[in-house]
Amino acid sequence: MRLVIDHRRCRKTGQCSYLHPELFKAGEYGSPIVLVEHPGEELREAAEEAVELCPSGAISLVEDEGSSREEGS
Ligand code: SF4
Repeated sequence: MRLVIDHRRCRKTGQCSYLHPELFKAGEYGSPIVLVEHPGEELREAAEEAVELCPSGAISLVEDEGSSREEGS
């Protein structure tokens, strides 16, 4: 999974970097920067919460393209 910010939708509230500094930091001019582009299981919940709480719906978790999951092991 990849954590993505749509900067055209972001309203620069700073909420994501305030609530989840382990995942985001406020960049120049208040635009958030994703610190952990591929959050592991331990950060999954925090990432999902950030997606839910962003007031402009600018954060999303997207499936990695070409990700290969080992099956059956
Ligand atoms: S919470 Fe959403 S709108 Fe606010 S800074 Fe983060 S991405 Fe932008």
